[in-house]
Amino acid sequence: MDHKALAELLFPNVTMTPEEVEAKFPHRNLPEGAVVTRMAPSPTGFVHMGHLVQGLISERMAHQSGGVLFLRIEDTDAKREVPGAVEVLIDSMKYYGIQFDEGATMDGDSGNYGPYRQRQRADIYHVFAKKLVSEGHAYPCFCTEEELSTMREQQEANKETTGYYGKYAMWRDRSMEDIQAQLNAGNPWVLRFRSEGSIENQFKFDDLVKGKLTITENNVDHVLLKSDGIPTYHFAHAVDDQLMRTTHVVRGDEWLPSLPFHIQLFKTLGFKLPKYVHIGPLMKMDGNSKRKLSKRKDPELAMTYYTAEGFPAKAVYEYLMTVLNSNFEDWRRANADAPADTFKFSPKKLNPAGSLFDYAKLVDVSKNVISRMSAEEVYDLLTAWAQEYDPDFGAKLTADPDYAKRILAIGRGGKKPRKDLAVWKDAKPYMGFFYDEYLEVPQFDEKFDKAVVIDVLNRFLEKFDINDDSNVWFEKVKAITTEIGFTTDMKAYKADPTAFPGTVADVSTFLRQAVTGKTNSPDLYTVMQILGHERTVDRIKATIAKL
Ligand code: GLU
Repeated sequence: MDHKALAELLFPNVTMTPEEVEAKFPHRNLPEGAVVTRMAPSPTGFVHMGHLVQGLISERMAHQSGGVLFLRIEDTDAKREVPGAVEVLIDSMKYYGIQFDEGATMDGDSGNYGPYRQRQRADIYHVFAKKLVSEGHAYPCFCTEEELSTMREQQEANKETTGYYGKYAMWRDRSMEDIQAQLNAGNPWVLRFRSEGSIENQFKFDDLVKGKLTITENNVDHVLLKSDGIPTYHFAHAVDDQLMRTTHVVRGDEWLPSLPFHIQLFKTLGFKLPKYVHIGPLMKMDGNSKRKLSKRKDPELAMTYYTAEGFPAKAVYEYLMTVLNSNFEDWRRANADAPADTFKFSPKKLNPAGSLFDYAKLVDVSKNVISRMSAEEVYDLLTAWAQEYDPDFGAKLTADPDYAKRILAIGRGGKKPRKDLAVWKDAKPYMGFFYDEYLEVPQFDEKFDKAVVIDVLNRFLEKFDINDDSNVWFEKVKAITTEIGFTTDMKAYKADPTAFPGTVADVSTFLRQAVTGKTNSPDLYTVMQILGHERTVDRIKATIAKL
């Protein structure tokens, strides 16, 4: 077989040489040890936690080493493409602080190693496809779907491994005449790799997450170019990561089975193999067993879930760090206020089997993160969330920012800040009563006579002075307690509850319910201070009127 002639026959329009293409994308001038990596999503429009994990690992590895993170769009499957998907992805990564240095952007491509969208790279792939054919490493295959499925059935019947290999590789050694005849007939063809590998052979390979792997050589003649001339993932991966000068490939471990072929392909093409970081899946507990997070069963897989619930980006980021690097939590304890990106991230600390996603832990981390924010920051983030997901509440927050910030400042600062909020969705139930329209009618405990409640409220109205400090205020509450025959001695009450009709805690609850509509609220003295004299009095009077 004259391979050069075959290459000319298949790719008559390709005139560039691989060397000429390589010269257009010189090695990057970066410091020793700098990691060049990428995100390479398919534009399906669905952005999920797996993307964020991959983005975060890639971003940390690139930026903490003084390297480059770029975005490549793997749009070879036009059927799955959703308009606007690239924008959605860029937006959500940006929301979590993952910025690309080059690649696909909102308005076209930016950078010297593009184009960064695979469908625009057809010419480039064809240069390397032609090279492989001319060296006898690739050949056209004219098999029809029918022939391929007959082959598969035969293999299954013989209990053999399915696939296009060995004696089943029907077009591997066909003559130029056979090929020419098919081309003349205008029959479609795919380009296949001619594998020289054998499943008898194994070799060692080091993955940055999985560690030492024993790999069996690939013996399948995989497809490199589909019949429309568009490459498969495998071929595009080799060509793109070579020309874009990727040093590390961070990707899901669902690609591990293809790794033997990728290694073989890089070698045959004369490319330098990048380092691989194969990330295990995100799992969750389902009863007593672990399973992968699933798009169908787990709404928390989609990134839209976190924005709608109102998890601050910082909290999700912080949580993922704790999941991905086991030493992050200790570091955080020692560096409470340090920005998360000053932590030294290591791919070696990833769990090779995958990470366990624990929602309760996320909530916990988020409460901590929010409790450490300033009232100002909470206000800004909460308002942005509310304007989108609860516009009515959003309008209330923006109508009087100072008022909202005073509310949000309650219990903030100090060694033990309050942890009332895990997500912005929690804010309305927590603080809504400060807004008259959200105030609920209190339901008093029926074990107390209404007359007693009214009596307490009236006595409080007589004594209430907004200028009292919290001690004086509480002394007055205690005085009322004694006046109505309740006790302020909680110890004595606990020892014998039947000895007293009620306690100072009950009196406080009557007041709390009258003012906030609820049995739980932030510090009542502070609540009254923020509401002011008139509104506090009005609320108590309104409660009395309804009793
Ligand atoms: N397009 C591939 C995917 O979405 C990219 C894998 C990779 O990063 O190489 O799974």
